[in-house]
Amino acid sequence: MAEMEHFTISAMAAALRRGEVSSRELTQAALERIDRLEPTLHAFITLTPELALAMADEADRRLREWWKDSSTALPALLGIPMAVKDVLAVANVRCTCGSRILENFVPPYTATAVQRLIDAGVVIIGKTNTDEFAMGSSTENSAYGPTANPWDFSRVPGGSSGGSAAAVAGRLVPAALGTDTGGSVRQPASFCGVTGIKPTYGRVSRYGLVAYGSSLDSLGALALSAEDAALIFMQMAGHDERDATSVQVPVPQIDLSRADGLKGLRIGVADEYFIEGIHPEVKAVVWQAVDAMQAAGATVERIRLPHTEYALPVYYLIAPAEASANLARYDGVRYGLREPASSIIETFRKTRGAGFGPEVKRRIMLGTYALSAGYYDAYYGQAQKVRTLIRQDFEQAFEKVDMIAAPVAPSTAFRMGEHLNDPLAMYLEDIFTLPANLAGIPGLAFPAGFDSNGLPVGIQLMGPHFAEAALFRAAHAYQQVTDWHLRKPALVNQLAD
Ligand code: GLN
Repeated sequence: MAEMEHFTISAMAAALRRGEVSSRELTQAALERIDRLEPTLHAFITLTPELALAMADEADRRLREWWKDSSTALPALLGIPMAVKDVLAVANVRCTCGSRILENFVPPYTATAVQRLIDAGVVIIGKTNTDEFAMGSSTENSAYGPTANPWDFSRVPGGSSGGSAAAVAGRLVPAALGTDTGGSVRQPASFCGVTGIKPTYGRVSRYGLVAYGSSLDSLGALALSAEDAALIFMQMAGHDERDATSVQVPVPQIDLSRADGLKGLRIGVADEYFIEGIHPEVKAVVWQAVDAMQAAGATVERIRLPHTEYALPVYYLIAPAEASANLARYDGVRYGLREPASSIIETFRKTRGAGFGPEVKRRIMLGTYALSAGYYDAYYGQAQKVRTLIRQDFEQAFEKVDMIAAPVAPSTAFRMGEHLNDPLAMYLEDIFTLPANLAGIPGLAFPAGFDSNGLPVGIQLMGPHFAEAALFRAAHAYQQVTDWHLRKPALVNQLAD
């Protein structure tokens, strides 16, 4: 029988090809495990069992054809169950973005990245929980209630792709899509002990992703290993004429069979990422991982990224500014919720007042203020200039080193409610992930150990634009000599038995 907890994508794909299990069986096993665990974890906003079973049957049909005639290559992800963050459009499945304002919004089309996975035979199990419009670091800003961390149900899974991270860590699905505007793939990956890729800006099409901060938004994936994340990345990436910022850069064929990804690699470590306020246990785990990479053949060099300290204020001007423009479309006329009133202005006011949660309203106000006449140059204009300096820091660093190792977040998973009434404390959780988004560079987060509460600690590798393959090779090499990524949350498995 298909026991979800034992499966990576690579293992599932091999079992499917050998005929040891069918995609329908894998899909049913995922749905059964979701049945048992979802009341505790609440990783999903919408489940799509019928769609999933139909997709599984189609994958099984393609498999049977292949057995008859194996002259054409079978897509690596054929028949694999996956979940999709609920900010990505899947045709005819409601897309809430974690918001009341889109509670009943059913998009008529599918995001390009999701479509590429569907074409490769991926089975869509459902839409995962997220902070409202991906604004947050804990999934507590979801209008549909928070997701629990599989390692400790009283703690947050991180955010905003917290539902995707919990679904993977809880072994409900072997992988899930997420989005990362300021850390929303990497930070929940770190809090939940899974691997998460934030690709280069422009590498994966944003068509069908509900926009948050358009110059920062990137689509990524969460999985159980660098190898699995690379398979999804290769399938999703590539030029798409429907996204004007999508780049014409060939997608690499990432071959991880040569496990020499760390030999001769120059890894940079910056003091700016080991500032006061980082938990000492997080710091210790990250250094241990860097030491392990050195032992596996990498060299470690100190670098400087002097403008990193401005990343937080710069991000929290640019992201809300872009959000305030992007969210103007939810007006009670074109999409979702509508609260009718006597005048059109009153309808806008009532709809937006009722439909948006407090954090989204805060961002809209911040962003509108930063963009308003008289303040534009002082805030938004200034932030854009500092953003350039942050990008240049990285460019200079990458003349000396191949990639940069850093903590993902200053702490491990915090308790639900801990930062809920203190937005600044919540924003500080993003301090180490924002710079990569501002610079548009790729980042890969993966498990590196545990703290004394038994909570996962992640590390991230950041590389130059389009260097995803090198990041995957390095993380894969690390995962060949360590087993942090294979550890399973005991609580979840007790509950599943
Ligand atoms: N926590 C950050 C924010 O609230 C990042 C969110 C994201 O990457 N989507 O903006």
